[in-house]
Amino acid sequence: MSKRRTAVVTGGGSGIGRAIAHRLASDGFAVAILDLNNEAAETTAEEITQNGNEAVAFGGVDISDRAQVNAAVDKVRATLGPVLVLVNNAGLTAMDAFLKISDDLWDRVMAVNLGGTFYCTQAVLPDMVEAKWGRIVNISSSSTHSGQPFQTHYVAAKSAVVGLTKSLALEFGPKGITVNTIPPGFVDTPMLRASEEKGLLAGSVEDHAKLTPVRRAGRPEDIAAACSFLVSDEAGYITGQIIGVNGGRNT
Ligand code: NAD
Repeated sequence: MSKRRTAVVTGGGSGIGRAIAHRLASDGFAVAILDLNNEAAETTAEEITQNGNEAVAFGGVDISDRAQVNAAVDKVRATLGPVLVLVNNAGLTAMDAFLKISDDLWDRVMAVNLGGTFYCTQAVLPDMVEAKWGRIVNISSSSTHSGQPFQTHYVAAKSAVVGLTKSLALEFGPKGITVNTIPPGFVDTPMLRASEEKGLLAGSVEDHAKLTPVRRAGRPEDIAAACSFLVSDEAGYITGQIIGVNGGRNT
């Protein structure tokens, strides 16, 4: 990279977002970690700086709140400069029988997974337009390929993120900005282990790994590697795409 660029990673305090933050920092980006969990964001930033790379935590930010997102992005700009890479990773999973989903729960799942992606993207796009270069990667879900019982709210929100990705790619391609989505499948993170503990996976993570074509669960680093490529200069001809990283569980 000729000039240091700033990347925002939402949900960078845990799991996939943490791995993406580490990877982009080691690729040479100055990484801003936005997360609801302040302590987790601080920990990731400390780990990265201890490795000799650049990261700053912006914790206590709820991406479903536009005012909080705008205030955080203003701070990122003031601290690290214009934002040229955005990874919309923070997400909220849920498992509920369709007939039991309340309006509040539906709205919350939409607000975090879809609304958060909308707010963060609107907040940073002007920097990318100004620079005539930008990269956006939206972390959706492999459940958008297949559907998932008891996850109608979550899959609806993540599927909307796929549609948002495709349409944004068409609108902002002429401005030098690419927009792609990675739908992860079965990645061993605190989110997945929490679902396992609640008995929501119909078996253990290890049981599912045995049924996965590559015979293992995904690692957060698998998603980070794909993300690293998609935000690079050399991925400039890839936009509006769904790049599945799922061990062959969805083809
Ligand atoms: P995780 O729970 O380990 O990490 C999610 C992070 O997002 C946490 O640090 C959390 O504090 C943060 N976050 C949650 N709500 C937030 C909000 N409103 N504002 C700001 N930060 C918020 O989860 P993960 O498994 O690493 O998942 C990361 C993304 O990948 C999510 O969008 C998830 O839906 C998606 N995903 C994961 C899997 C998987 O197998 N783990 C599969 C498909 C999709």
